[in-house]
Amino acid sequence: MNKKILISGGAGFIGSHLCDFFINNGDTVWCIDNFITSEEINIKHLLKNDNFIFIQKDLINLNEEELKEKFDYVLHFASPASPVDYLKYPLETLKVNSIGTEKMLNVALKSNCTFLFSSTSEVYGDPLIPEQNEQYWGNVNPIGPRSVYDEGKRYGEAIVMAYYRKYKLNTKIIRIFNTYGPRMRLNDGRVIPNFIYNALNNQPLPIYGDGKQTRSFCYIDDLIKGIIKVLKVDYNLPINLGNPEEFTIIELAEKVEKIFGKKIGFKFLPPMPDDPRKRKPDITLAKRLLNWEPVIKLEEGLKKTIQYYLTLKES
Ligand code: UDP
Repeated sequence: MNKKILISGGAGFIGSHLCDFFINNGDTVWCIDNFITSEEINIKHLLKNDNFIFIQKDLINLNEEELKEKFDYVLHFASPASPVDYLKYPLETLKVNSIGTEKMLNVALKSNCTFLFSSTSEVYGDPLIPEQNEQYWGNVNPIGPRSVYDEGKRYGEAIVMAYYRKYKLNTKIIRIFNTYGPRMRLNDGRVIPNFIYNALNNQPLPIYGDGKQTRSFCYIDDLIKGIIKVLKVDYNLPINLGNPEEFTIIELAEKVEKIFGKKIGFKFLPPMPDDPRKRKPDITLAKRLLNWEPVIKLEEGLKKTIQYYLTLKES
Protein backbone atom coordinates (compact mmCIF):
# COMPACT_ATOMS: atom_id res chain seq x y z
CA MET A 1 0.00 0.00 0.00
CA ASN A 2 1.11 3.54 -0.76
CA LYS A 3 2.90 5.04 2.22
CA LYS A 4 3.49 8.62 3.32
CA ILE A 5 7.07 9.35 4.27
CA LEU A 6 8.75 12.44 5.67
CA ILE A 7 12.51 12.66 5.13
CA SER A 8 14.66 15.45 6.54
CA GLY A 9 17.90 15.91 4.65
CA GLY A 10 16.20 14.33 1.65
CA ALA A 11 18.40 16.25 -0.80
CA GLY A 12 21.57 14.94 0.79
CA PHE A 13 23.71 12.01 -0.22
CA ILE A 14 21.88 9.26 1.68
CA GLY A 15 18.53 11.09 1.93
CA SER A 16 18.18 11.50 -1.83
CA HIS A 17 18.79 7.78 -2.43
CA LEU A 18 16.03 7.07 0.09
CA CYS A 19 13.69 9.49 -1.71
CA ASP A 20 14.38 7.60 -4.93
CA PHE A 21 13.70 4.27 -3.28
CA PHE A 22 10.30 5.31 -1.92
CA ILE A 23 9.23 7.17 -5.06
CA ASN A 24 10.11 4.12 -7.18
CA ASN A 25 8.07 2.06 -4.75
CA GLY A 26 4.98 4.19 -5.45
CA ASP A 27 5.02 5.98 -2.09
CA THR A 28 4.62 9.70 -1.43
CA VAL A 29 7.61 11.57 -0.04
CA TRP A 30 7.81 14.89 1.79
CA CYS A 31 11.40 16.08 1.73
CA ILE A 32 12.76 18.85 3.95
CA ASP A 33 16.16 20.30 3.16
CA ASN A 34 17.91 23.66 3.34
CA PHE A 35 20.82 22.70 1.03
CA ILE A 36 23.35 23.58 3.73
CA THR A 37 25.55 20.65 2.70
CA SER A 38 23.34 19.06 0.04
CA GLU A 39 22.62 19.90 -3.56
CA GLU A 40 19.48 20.44 -5.63
CA ILE A 41 20.88 18.26 -8.39
CA ASN A 42 20.32 15.20 -6.14
CA ILE A 43 16.54 15.67 -6.26
CA LYS A 44 16.11 17.61 -9.50
CA HIS A 45 14.69 14.55 -11.26
CA LEU A 46 12.02 14.23 -8.53
CA LEU A 47 10.81 17.82 -8.41
CA LYS A 48 8.24 17.33 -11.17
CA ASN A 49 6.88 14.13 -9.63
CA ASP A 50 3.44 14.60 -8.02
CA ASN A 51 4.38 12.16 -5.29
CA PHE A 52 7.35 14.26 -4.22
CA ILE A 53 6.76 17.34 -2.08
CA PHE A 54 9.81 19.48 -1.46
CA ILE A 55 9.95 21.86 1.49
CA GLN A 56 13.04 24.06 1.32
CA LYS A 57 13.57 24.96 4.94
CA ASP A 58 15.98 24.71 7.84
CA LEU A 59 14.44 21.94 9.91
CA ILE A 60 14.95 23.85 13.14
CA ASN A 61 12.53 26.53 11.85
CA LEU A 62 9.86 23.96 11.00
CA ASN A 63 6.49 24.55 12.57
CA GLU A 64 5.34 20.97 13.18
CA GLU A 65 1.69 22.11 12.91
CA GLU A 66 2.28 22.93 9.21
CA LEU A 67 2.56 19.22 8.45
CA LYS A 68 -1.00 17.96 8.51
CA GLU A 69 -0.33 14.55 6.97
CA LYS A 70 -0.56 11.28 8.79
CA PHE A 71 2.84 9.80 8.01
CA ASP A 72 3.82 6.14 8.00
CA TYR A 73 7.53 6.83 8.39
CA VAL A 74 9.45 9.85 9.66
CA LEU A 75 13.14 9.62 8.79
CA HIS A 76 15.65 12.11 10.17
CA PHE A 77 18.71 12.39 7.92
CA ALA A 78 19.36 16.14 8.05
CA SER A 79 22.84 16.96 9.34
CA PRO A 80 26.24 17.96 8.04
CA ALA A 81 28.13 14.64 8.08
CA SER A 82 31.57 15.22 6.65
CA PRO A 83 34.23 16.32 9.18
CA VAL A 84 35.05 19.32 6.96
CA ASP A 85 31.35 20.30 6.92
CA TYR A 86 30.63 19.95 10.61
CA LEU A 87 33.81 21.79 11.54
CA LYS A 88 32.56 24.60 9.30
CA TYR A 89 28.99 24.47 10.67
CA PRO A 90 29.42 23.55 14.35
CA LEU A 91 26.26 25.20 15.70
CA GLU A 92 24.06 24.10 12.82
CA THR A 93 25.28 20.52 13.40
CA LEU A 94 24.46 20.65 17.12
CA LYS A 95 21.04 22.22 16.52
CA VAL A 96 19.85 19.90 13.76
CA ASN A 97 20.73 16.87 15.87
CA SER A 98 19.12 18.25 19.03
CA ILE A 99 16.27 20.66 18.19
CA GLY A 100 15.87 19.05 14.75
CA THR A 101 15.61 15.54 16.17
CA GLU A 102 13.01 16.69 18.71
CA LYS A 103 10.92 18.32 15.99
CA MET A 104 11.00 15.20 13.83
CA LEU A 105 10.13 13.06 16.84
CA ASN A 106 7.11 15.28 17.53
CA VAL A 107 5.94 14.90 13.94
CA ALA A 108 6.23 11.11 14.29
CA LEU A 109 4.42 11.20 17.61
CA LYS A 110 1.49 13.11 16.07
CA SER A 111 1.21 10.38 13.42
CA ASN A 112 2.11 7.64 15.91
CA CYS A 113 4.33 6.16 13.23
CA THR A 114 7.77 4.62 12.86
CA PHE A 115 10.63 7.08 13.38
CA LEU A 116 14.20 6.49 12.25
CA PHE A 117 17.25 8.44 13.41
CA SER A 118 20.41 8.36 11.33
CA SER A 119 23.15 8.11 13.90
CA THR A 120 26.77 7.37 13.19
CA SER A 121 29.83 5.31 13.99
CA GLU A 122 31.20 8.60 15.37
CA VAL A 123 29.25 7.90 18.57
CA TYR A 124 32.08 5.41 19.25
CA GLY A 125 34.63 8.25 18.94
CA ASP A 126 38.22 7.01 18.69
CA PRO A 127 37.35 3.43 19.70
CA LEU A 128 39.49 1.41 22.06
CA ILE A 129 38.22 -1.90 20.68
CA PRO A 130 39.10 -3.15 17.18
CA GLU A 131 35.53 -3.92 16.08
CA GLN A 132 32.71 -1.74 17.36
CA ASN A 133 29.51 -3.48 18.42
CA GLU A 134 26.35 -1.76 19.63
CA GLN A 135 27.14 -2.44 23.30
CA TYR A 136 30.33 -0.35 23.15
CA TRP A 137 29.88 3.05 24.82
CA GLY A 138 32.62 4.75 22.88
CA ASN A 139 35.62 6.94 23.52
CA VAL A 140 34.55 10.48 22.64
CA ASN A 141 36.29 13.76 23.41
CA PRO A 142 33.30 15.86 24.52
CA ILE A 143 35.00 19.22 23.91
CA GLY A 144 37.14 18.58 20.83
CA PRO A 145 36.25 20.12 17.45
CA ARG A 146 34.55 16.88 16.32
CA SER A 147 32.35 16.85 19.41
CA VAL A 148 29.66 18.94 17.69
CA TYR A 149 28.90 15.92 15.54
CA ASP A 150 29.76 13.09 17.95
CA GLU A 151 27.93 14.59 20.91
CA GLY A 152 25.15 15.94 18.68
CA LYS A 153 24.45 12.41 17.49
CA ARG A 154 24.81 11.00 21.02
CA TYR A 155 22.24 13.55 22.25
CA GLY A 156 20.06 12.58 19.27
CA GLU A 157 20.19 8.92 20.31
CA ALA A 158 19.38 9.89 23.91
CA ILE A 159 16.25 11.87 22.99
CA VAL A 160 15.09 9.14 20.60
CA MET A 161 15.39 6.56 23.39
CA ALA A 162 13.52 8.93 25.73
CA TYR A 163 10.58 9.13 23.27
CA TYR A 164 10.67 5.37 22.93
CA ARG A 165 10.57 4.85 26.69
CA LYS A 166 8.19 7.68 27.62
CA TYR A 167 5.75 7.60 24.68
CA LYS A 168 6.29 4.04 23.37
CA LEU A 169 6.99 5.57 19.94
CA ASN A 170 8.27 2.97 17.46
CA THR A 171 11.75 4.44 17.12
CA LYS A 172 14.78 3.07 15.27
CA ILE A 173 18.40 4.14 15.51
CA ILE A 174 20.94 3.21 12.88
CA ARG A 175 24.66 3.82 13.37
CA ILE A 176 25.95 4.40 9.87
CA PHE A 177 29.63 3.69 9.20
CA ASN A 178 31.56 5.28 6.33
CA THR A 179 29.38 5.16 3.24
CA TYR A 180 30.23 6.31 -0.28
CA GLY A 181 28.84 6.42 -3.78
CA PRO A 182 27.14 8.65 -6.33
CA ARG A 183 25.86 12.04 -5.08
CA MET A 184 28.54 12.61 -2.46
CA ARG A 185 29.76 16.11 -3.20
CA LEU A 186 33.13 15.91 -4.91
CA ASN A 187 34.31 18.70 -2.60
CA ASP A 188 32.66 17.43 0.59
CA GLY A 189 36.05 16.73 2.15
CA ARG A 190 35.58 13.03 2.78
CA VAL A 191 38.31 10.72 1.78
CA ILE A 192 36.76 8.93 -1.21
CA PRO A 193 35.47 12.01 -3.09
CA ASN A 194 38.69 13.83 -2.18
CA PHE A 195 40.87 11.10 -3.60
CA ILE A 196 38.76 10.87 -6.76
CA TYR A 197 38.78 14.66 -7.18
CA ASN A 198 42.56 14.74 -6.92
CA ALA A 199 43.01 11.74 -9.19
CA LEU A 200 40.76 13.33 -11.84
CA ASN A 201 42.90 16.47 -11.64
CA ASN A 202 46.22 14.60 -11.65
CA GLN A 203 47.05 15.84 -8.17
CA PRO A 204 48.67 13.63 -5.52
CA LEU A 205 46.17 12.02 -3.12
CA PRO A 206 46.16 13.89 0.22
CA ILE A 207 46.68 11.58 3.19
CA TYR A 208 46.10 13.05 6.65
CA GLY A 209 48.54 11.77 9.24
CA ASP A 210 50.47 8.55 8.63
CA GLY A 211 47.68 6.92 6.59
CA LYS A 212 47.70 3.86 8.85
CA GLN A 213 44.31 4.76 10.34
CA THR A 214 41.56 2.44 9.11
CA ARG A 215 38.04 2.82 7.78
CA SER A 216 35.48 0.34 6.42
CA PHE A 217 33.56 1.60 3.40
CA CYS A 218 29.99 0.67 2.51
CA TYR A 219 28.53 1.34 -0.93
CA ILE A 220 25.32 3.39 -0.87
CA ASP A 221 23.09 0.71 -2.48
CA ASP A 222 24.00 -1.78 0.26
CA LEU A 223 23.26 0.79 2.95
CA ILE A 224 19.83 1.71 1.51
CA LYS A 225 18.80 -1.97 1.52
CA GLY A 226 19.81 -2.19 5.18
CA ILE A 227 17.86 0.96 6.13
CA ILE A 228 14.66 -0.32 4.51
CA LYS A 229 14.98 -3.57 6.45
CA VAL A 230 15.49 -1.70 9.73
CA LEU A 231 12.17 0.12 9.22
CA LYS A 232 10.31 -3.18 9.20
CA VAL A 233 12.03 -5.04 12.02
CA ASP A 234 10.62 -5.22 15.52
CA TYR A 235 13.66 -3.80 17.32
CA ASN A 236 14.21 -0.39 18.87
CA LEU A 237 17.84 -0.30 20.03
CA PRO A 238 20.70 0.96 17.83
CA ILE A 239 21.83 -1.18 14.89
CA ASN A 240 25.22 -0.81 13.17
CA LEU A 241 25.04 -0.56 9.38
CA GLY A 242 28.31 -0.68 7.50
CA ASN A 243 30.73 -2.83 5.59
CA PRO A 244 33.10 -4.72 7.89
CA GLU A 245 35.93 -4.93 5.31
CA GLU A 246 38.60 -2.70 6.81
CA PHE A 247 41.32 -0.80 4.93
CA THR A 248 44.06 1.62 5.92
CA ILE A 249 43.84 4.99 4.19
CA ILE A 250 47.07 4.12 2.36
CA GLU A 251 45.46 0.92 1.05
CA LEU A 252 42.48 2.97 -0.14
CA ALA A 253 44.80 5.42 -1.92
CA GLU A 254 46.58 2.50 -3.61
CA LYS A 255 43.23 1.10 -4.79
CA VAL A 256 42.17 4.45 -6.26
CA GLU A 257 45.53 4.81 -8.00
CA LYS A 258 45.22 1.28 -9.41
CA ILE A 259 41.70 1.89 -10.76
CA PHE A 260 42.85 5.08 -12.50
CA GLY A 261 45.72 3.05 -13.94
CA LYS A 262 48.25 5.84 -13.67
CA LYS A 263 50.90 6.98 -11.19
CA ILE A 264 49.30 9.74 -9.14
CA GLY A 265 51.34 9.66 -5.95
CA PHE A 266 50.44 10.58 -2.37
CA LYS A 267 50.95 13.73 -0.32
CA PHE A 268 51.16 13.36 3.49
CA LEU A 269 49.48 16.19 5.41
CA PRO A 270 49.02 16.87 9.16
CA PRO A 271 46.41 14.62 10.87
CA MET A 272 42.84 15.79 11.44
CA PRO A 273 42.14 16.61 15.12
CA ASP A 274 40.87 13.59 17.13
CA ASP A 275 40.83 11.49 13.96
CA PRO A 276 39.75 7.96 14.97
CA ARG A 277 42.63 5.49 14.43
CA LYS A 278 40.39 2.59 13.52
CA ARG A 279 36.85 1.95 12.52
CA LYS A 280 35.25 -1.36 11.67
CA PRO A 281 31.63 -2.25 12.33
CA ASP A 282 30.63 -5.44 14.05
CA ILE A 283 27.45 -6.22 12.07
CA THR A 284 26.53 -9.47 13.81
CA LEU A 285 23.29 -7.88 15.01
CA ALA A 286 22.27 -6.58 11.56
CA LYS A 287 23.04 -9.95 10.00
CA ARG A 288 20.90 -11.77 12.56
CA LEU A 289 17.99 -9.32 12.77
CA LEU A 290 17.80 -8.19 9.16
CA ASN A 291 19.45 -11.00 7.25
CA TRP A 292 21.51 -8.19 5.70
CA GLU A 293 25.12 -7.68 4.85
CA PRO A 294 26.90 -5.59 2.22
CA VAL A 295 27.71 -7.35 -1.02
CA ILE A 296 29.47 -4.66 -3.07
CA LYS A 297 33.27 -4.84 -2.84
CA LEU A 298 35.25 -1.64 -2.45
CA GLU A 299 36.84 -1.87 -5.88
CA GLU A 300 33.47 -2.32 -7.61
CA GLY A 301 31.89 0.53 -5.64
CA LEU A 302 34.81 2.84 -6.34
CA LYS A 303 34.50 2.16 -10.07
CA LYS A 304 30.77 2.97 -10.01
CA THR A 305 31.45 6.15 -8.05
CA ILE A 306 34.20 7.31 -10.40
CA GLN A 307 31.88 6.64 -13.34
CA TYR A 308 29.24 8.86 -11.73
CA TYR A 309 31.67 11.77 -11.36
CA LEU A 310 32.86 11.33 -14.95
CA THR A 311 29.27 11.45 -16.20
CA LEU A 312 28.61 14.57 -14.13
CA LYS A 313 31.66 16.24 -15.61
CA GLU A 314 30.44 15.51 -19.14
CA SER A 315 26.88 16.76 -18.57
N1 UDP B 1 41.40 11.51 5.00
C1 UDP B 1 42.56 11.61 4.25
N2 UDP B 1 42.54 12.42 3.15
C2 UDP B 1 41.43 13.12 2.77
C3 UDP B 1 40.26 13.02 3.55
C4 UDP B 1 40.28 12.20 4.67
O1 UDP B 1 43.59 10.99 4.54
O2 UDP B 1 41.51 13.82 1.76
C5 UDP B 1 41.39 10.58 6.15
C6 UDP B 1 40.83 11.16 7.43
O3 UDP B 1 41.85 11.77 8.19
C7 UDP B 1 40.26 9.92 8.11
C8 UDP B 1 39.80 9.05 6.94
O4 UDP B 1 40.51 9.52 5.80
O5 UDP B 1 41.26 9.24 8.81
C9 UDP B 1 38.30 9.13 6.69
O6 UDP B 1 37.96 10.47 6.65
P1 UDP B 1 36.53 11.00 6.19
O7 UDP B 1 36.58 12.49 6.24
O8 UDP B 1 36.17 10.38 4.89
O9 UDP B 1 35.49 10.43 7.24
P2 UDP B 1 35.53 10.10 8.80
O10 UDP B 1 35.61 8.63 8.86
O11 UDP B 1 36.72 10.74 9.44
O12 UDP B 1 34.25 10.65 9.30
